[in-house]
Amino acid sequence: MARKAAAPKTSLIDGVDLQGYVEGDPSSFKPDQLDKIREKISGYMKLGLLKMNRAQIPFIRIKNKRGRTPRTRVFESGNQVGKTTIGVAEDIAHAMGFRPWLDDTDPDYKINVRVPNNGIVGCEVAGQTLAQRIEPEFMALIPEYCGVTVTRYSDGSLKSLHLANDFNGKPCGSTIHFRSYVQPAESYEGTVLDWIHFDEPPPSDILTAATRGLMSTNGPLWLTMTPLKEPYIYDLFSMHAFNQGGDDQEIAVFRGSTWDNCQDWCRACDVTVPENDPDKLAAGQVRPVDLCPKCREVMGFLPRAGIENYLKKITDPDEREAREEGKWKHLSGLVYKELDRDKHLYNDFTIPADWMRIEVLDPHDARPCCWLFGAVSPEEIIINGKPANRIYWYTYLRPSGNIDAIARQVKIKRAEHNYKEPAMVIIDVKFAAAEKPLHGEHFPSWEEELEKAGIKHIVHSCSAPGDVTLGHKRVKEYLAPHYSAVRGTEFPGMMFAKQGTSGENGPMQHMSNYSWKEGTDKPEEKYKDFCDCIRYAALEQPTYDRPKPEIDEEFARMLIARNSMKQEENPLYHGLSIR
Ligand SMILES: [Zn+2]
Repeated sequence: MARKAAAPKTSLIDGVDLQGYVEGDPSSFKPDQLDKIREKISGYMKLGLLKMNRAQIPFIRIKNKRGRTPRTRVFESGNQVGKTTIGVAEDIAHAMGFRPWLDDTDPDYKINVRVPNNGIVGCEVAGQTLAQRIEPEFMALIPEYCGVTVTRYSDGSLKSLHLANDFNGKPCGSTIHFRSYVQPAESYEGTVLDWIHFDEPPPSDILTAATRGLMSTNGPLWLTMTPLKEPYIYDLFSMHAFNQGGDDQEIAVFRGSTWDNCQDWCRACDVTVPENDPDKLAAGQVRPVDLCPKCREVMGFLPRAGIENYLKKITDPDEREAREEGKWKHLSGLVYKELDRDKHLYNDFTIPADWMRIEVLDPHDARPCCWLFGAVSPEEIIINGKPANRIYWYTYLRPSGNIDAIARQVKIKRAEHNYKEPAMVIIDVKFAAAEKPLHGEHFPSWEEELEKAGIKHIVHSCSAPGDVTLGHKRVKEYLAPHYSAVRGTEFPGMMFAKQGTSGENGPMQHMSNYSWKEGTDKPEEKYKDFCDCIRYAALEQPTYDRPKPEIDEEFARMLIARNSMKQEENPLYHGLSIR
């Protein structure tokens, strides 16, 4: 046990061959001796001289409305932004209780954490990631005089790192533990933790197990990652981050682009900084100009040509968005990327009489409405862990005119498809009676007026906060393959009629073109109407109920007459060819 501050055990001249040096006379150092000493100084000082780029600064300095660092910080960034470096620097800073690269008068210098402490660093695969990326970052940043001792797993990868001294040479005693995502979740439990850092997104069971260890200390958590995997992180954290319009003051998210780390070009201003051109710098020389001359944001450490060369090699546009912009792979480009004409289209067939009919209405005052017709088959699937049934969308209408005229068109469509009343008509809740009175004379609301026109079984769409994101998730669940016992194979939980849902401004066109608005978490307005309908239906998650006999006897007779003309067959095999 150290009773007093352990003095640095090595000095600047240790290990340097000092032949010819006259003690007390620095001018007697030979050039190569000076180079070696300079190298040692910069090695010692790397953590102290760490310069943050414009993406890293807010990650360190952000405060919530209570003036505190939020408990959870998610650094979702492109490649080469320096996310691992700043994450590791933050690890060491927490182990020491202060940030050595800031001035000791800086408000963010001191960290509110007990020292000594225990922290955990989680990363993807112990062997490779730890040995090649994480361990070198730690070893480069921690000066020798901090007295690092390590333990290792049997494969040689880092298990723990103990710091005898802090950056100022005072006793520290903190331990940093290393775990990978291939280790069982339980290996993250058991230690009382003061902080956690995940490098790249962890699987959810590991996140749960590790954060359990943080409970008693209410310690901080930070994630540094390229948002390519584990989209649950987006739902759990990113969506709620207060600095992105979310509702949780203890969560902040940071989006860093690779361009935030560019040394000779400011993308925001389209300004080139010729002094920082790597061709004009000596090898290893740090770029001389710190700030963009226009926006005064700090410049980075990568040459423009190098970034361009790297990005050029990424051919998948979604992957490029994630690796360049730090934008969630599942939030770029098309909303329903999984939609595949070969898998989600079926050859139109007559919907069997015992399938349950549903309809969805997205009303519009100024342009034609969207009215979507679906059939819920008796075949069970599981959505969101609960029983559901496969849905076949078989036709649609874009009716316009007054509500009576619209209702008439709908009733004709129903008759064409051999039924009179669906089990439910899901309507956008904004147009429900209590929500929105329709402008103009005697129309009280779409809902009331539709009921007057004989449209029954109206159900309001779900519209709680967060339901849009949840709805996309549910639709994706429906679009995913689900096992069919009848067909003995997997196919999607939602199918679209090849003819019935085709056409300009039809459901298939909308679903296949629905896209995210560049740089936001929201989809474009274009093509949204039928996608809204399908989302309402997915959130409603209708379950099959055998249709009640129609009350209209004449209609029932008509149906019987029609059905008796067809031969007996199992409705579940109906129309679908097995691919
Ligand atoms: Zn600028």
